[in-house]
Amino acid sequence: MEGMTIIRHCPLNRTEFEERYDSDAACYGAIARITLRKEMKCPRCGGEAGGTMVMASVESRGVPWKKQLWQCRQCRHKFNALGNTVLAETKLPLRTWFRLFWWMCATDEPTSARKAFSSETQAEQGFQIKQERSAWTALQRIRRAMMPKEKLSGTVQLGLTEVRHLYRRRGSPEACAAIAAIREPYAATIATLPCLESDAITQFAIRHIAPGSTIITGRASRFDGLGVAGFVQTREPQTNPEDPFTRPRFVDQLAKHLDSCMTKVHHAQVSECNLPEYFAEFSFRHAYAYKSVGQRFYKLLQTILK
Ligand SMILES: [Zn+2]
Repeated sequence: MEGMTIIRHCPLNRTEFEERYDSDAACYGAIARITLRKEMKCPRCGGEAGGTMVMASVESRGVPWKKQLWQCRQCRHKFNALGNTVLAETKLPLRTWFRLFWWMCATDEPTSARKAFSSETQAEQGFQIKQERSAWTALQRIRRAMMPKEKLSGTVQLGLTEVRHLYRRRGSPEACAAIAAIREPYAATIATLPCLESDAITQFAIRHIAPGSTIITGRASRFDGLGVAGFVQTREPQTNPEDPFTRPRFVDQLAKHLDSCMTKVHHAQVSECNLPEYFAEFSFRHAYAYKSVGQRFYKLLQTILK
């Protein structure tokens, strides 16, 4: 069912994308189709009983269209399909957001505000953003909405990585990050670590992995605290006990891509406080690297409207 939904809603290519989402009303309709399938909480009374769809006649730049709204079953308050998603209370037109999404999915490299703001990108992608700062804010909003909403659970691979230019910092440019990932269905959490000591690793696991989960690690003794913290720890049999960076295989792939992404693309220009959002975009790109642009676009839409 999920597969069929994706085929029906994914634009095949840029031309089809442009035809389908040629107005704010069309973009709104696509959003409403996704939010319609989930429980929307009423922003006024918090009613969880769900709502019903109603139609309102509205006008956008002189063009009348039927806007689908939610109506709370309890207090009858009407609210729009953007609810409390990342697109609520935005000043940018939905058309611009959709073109940003498409561009994000179509470029090979991670996005940056500078690229989004460049006149080449804007002309090519058909969106207009007046300030580089607005482009940065919009991209950060999208990335934030890509961040994992809950702790990883089940069988989780955990590994450490050292990235030479992870973020902007004077003095010592090396920084360590921990990566926790599930292969199927894909989910990953990446965060910087203050050091490679056992305590820091255990704290990362407690924060990002559900208690009782099975964690696959390398053989280094610094992972020993995980068992005490209530996780089931399994070690990869073939890894080197002396090397802190020997990693389970899937995390190893992620770590190598992370290194090239942060070093070659961002050139250590990201501030440490903004890293979680950049990691989220990295993780999304990694997950859907082999999908078509249209499939990535629809997945992005689903992810950020959660
Ligand atoms: Zn209500």
